[in-house]
Amino acid sequence: MIRFNKVSLKYDKDTYAVQDLSLKIEEGEFVFIVGKTGAGKSTLFKLLTRELKPTSGSIKVFKDNIEYISNKNIPYYRRKLGVVFQDFKLLEDRNVYENVAFAQEVIGVNAFKIKKHVIKILNLVGLRNKATKMPYELSGGEKQKVAIARAIINKPKILLADEPTGNLDEMSTNEIIGLLNTINQNGTTVIIITHDMHLVERMNKRVIRLDEGNLVYDDYGLDNQIKNYLKNE
Ligand code: ADP
Repeated sequence: MIRFNKVSLKYDKDTYAVQDLSLKIEEGEFVFIVGKTGAGKSTLFKLLTRELKPTSGSIKVFKDNIEYISNKNIPYYRRKLGVVFQDFKLLEDRNVYENVAFAQEVIGVNAFKIKKHVIKILNLVGLRNKATKMPYELSGGEKQKVAIARAIINKPKILLADEPTGNLDEMSTNEIIGLLNTINQNGTTVIIITHDMHLVERMNKRVIRLDEGNLVYDDYGLDNQIKNYLKNE
């Protein structure tokens, strides 16, 4: 479903943000992308959303090399992805229902269907009883559930989450990761960027670790270097 073939990206002449990255993510996988600050995680995210094009190499998502998508077609490509961010990015002047409905309004779904879909998704994320609340009336964990509901309502094949638990306490973190896990079990490929190694350790999923733009580890669970680091913390 996703193929990186020798992908490099330079923001300026001398330094690689990611270098010679080759990886495959298959449909239905649940993957953590980890690494210290500056490792290249956000760059990888932006390459996938086509905010950035590789300096060299190619990226195939679904059937196409996304570096060839024309500017006009980028919005259509992005509709196939669900995206979730650390800072939620909710519309502060709209309530929970409206925030989620908005994602369907922009693609022209009719009002009757929108209502049906939004209620279904709010039930899934456990926020049916908060439909009329405004974002400022919600906890961080609840805001992230709204953001996830909005990200999945158009049934994307891939859900990309950039530090989705970065602003949350441990209990909300576990709830959000549990929700992302359920979404994955329902068939969506889930890719989560995080630097929360304790979380990654608990989950025992596939982990791709970047270090200074290079892929240094790709397997299930944490690598020994990180495990040792956590032990000595
Ligand atoms: P991470 O998300 O893992 O913290 P990034 O992908 O943001 O890492 O950054 C990778 C490298 O690219 C870092 O050295 C960072 O300083 C550099 N970088 C990121 N964004 C830019 C930018 N817009 N311009 C120049 N350098 C950048």
